[in-house]
Amino acid sequence: MSTETILILGGSFAGLNAAHYALKHTLAQLPKKDGVSYNVTLVNPSKDFFWRIAAPRACVSKELMPASKIFFPIEPAFASYPKGSFTFVQGSATHVEPAGRSVSVTLASGEQTSIPYAALIIATGISTPSSLFTQTTSRAGLTEEYDAFQKSLAAAKTVVIGGGGPVAVETAGEIAEFLNGKPGFMAPAVPKNPKAKVTLVCADKKMLPILREAISQQAEVFLKRLGAEVLYNTKVVTSKDGADGKTEVVLSTGKNLEADIYIDATGGRPNTGFLPKEWLDNRNKVACDPKTLRVTAAGPHVYVLGDAGSYTRGGVMDMVDAVPVAMTNLKTDLTAHFSNSQPGADRHYTANLSEQQICPVGTSKGVGAFGGYKVPSTMVWAIKGRDYLVGQLGAATVNGDQWKKESKWKPQPVVASAKAGLSSA
Ligand SMILES: Cc1cc2nc3c(=O)[nH]c(=O)nc-3n(C[C@H](O)[C@H](O)[C@H](O)COP(=O)(O)OP(=O)(O)OC[C@H]3O[C@@H](n4cnc5c(N)ncnc54)[C@H](O)[C@@H]3O)c2cc1C
Repeated sequence: MSTETILILGGSFAGLNAAHYALKHTLAQLPKKDGVSYNVTLVNPSKDFFWRIAAPRACVSKELMPASKIFFPIEPAFASYPKGSFTFVQGSATHVEPAGRSVSVTLASGEQTSIPYAALIIATGISTPSSLFTQTTSRAGLTEEYDAFQKSLAAAKTVVIGGGGPVAVETAGEIAEFLNGKPGFMAPAVPKNPKAKVTLVCADKKMLPILREAISQQAEVFLKRLGAEVLYNTKVVTSKDGADGKTEVVLSTGKNLEADIYIDATGGRPNTGFLPKEWLDNRNKVACDPKTLRVTAAGPHVYVLGDAGSYTRGGVMDMVDAVPVAMTNLKTDLTAHFSNSQPGADRHYTANLSEQQICPVGTSKGVGAFGGYKVPSTMVWAIKGRDYLVGQLGAATVNGDQWKKESKWKPQPVVASAKAGLSSA
């Protein structure tokens, strides 16, 4: 008996969704062949899925967002699939051998192994410069990180956060509220005697690039009420830790800041260093066909999903649109491969570039827009600010509840002119 493996690298939003989709809708539809079985193998450094979305609150307070809420064991979420159809490997991919179609993995035990693939899905996402927003190896490691951070935060008088995106704004809001308290109904626009000064350093002329200016200005009003100020058109050039425990934050304006705590929230870096350089674009994202999500330079049956991919501006909503596309094309490709037939039509991904982002600012306010419509602050709280969506979507994500049904899709008929073009080529 031989096994043909759909190998998925990365066990977060993209990898988990792809694995459930493949187990529910792909394996059973692949051609039946004597002596051949199909398997989904998921490789991830940690045994637990981390609800990263809640990190801005979880890093600040375990009372507000305990570890028990933000980590979900991966293996039990796959226990219901037929025996042999799913394998979880705790480890990190270190090298891909395109000619041999295999991936080298360093296991959590330190041992090396090599996993052959019939199809490969790269879902290794991004790491953040601040360790507060990324689970590198384990739940225990990140929990310890949070314990240490929370100790230093309690005594902090000056906190500087670099970045103007939603992670920076959410983190500034959580920290400012935690240190300076929640403003009452009649509170002034700026607290009179804040315990701590929180400064957000934004490289652009406005925060929250996806949202319109008026919404971003509303976020600043909410931040000010919590005792956080925003510096615009200012870049963090570097930060230097001093012997006194303070950090000097060097700014492009020359007006440097001294901080008890500095948090770099300037965006993620793709976890793609283990891949062949020819597979990457100039931002080190995995270069793919933006419609089919195939990694063209990688040869057949290689796809990318989630934040590591060149096709996306990032985010979970966008990834959910992409999963059925990559998985349909994978099924089409493998079906043709294993049955020696012509592949069917491709499914195409279209990026949703509408004004869409929900950004809590502290535990009771927030800003956002959905599908181009402004979302009022109370709605932002109701949708996301209460618990950063973990109650509604945390367990559902690790369990793959979204994919109980296969995502519907009708292949477009090949039009006559396209056929003519093909035949004359
Ligand atoms: C603090 C924060 C808050 C956010 N809030 C929101 C939000 O509210 N809404 C929203 O839509 N998006 C949000 N995002 C973005 C969202 O988290 C990402 O879009 C999402 O995490 C992308 O999922 P992913 O699976 O592609 O990658 P990731 O979540 O980055 O996961 C990649 C996985 O691959 C693993 N991995 C890395 N290297 C290897 C390797 N070599 N081998 C095997 N595995 C590897 C990692 O350990 C990880 O488990 C937020 C991001 C951050 C940082």
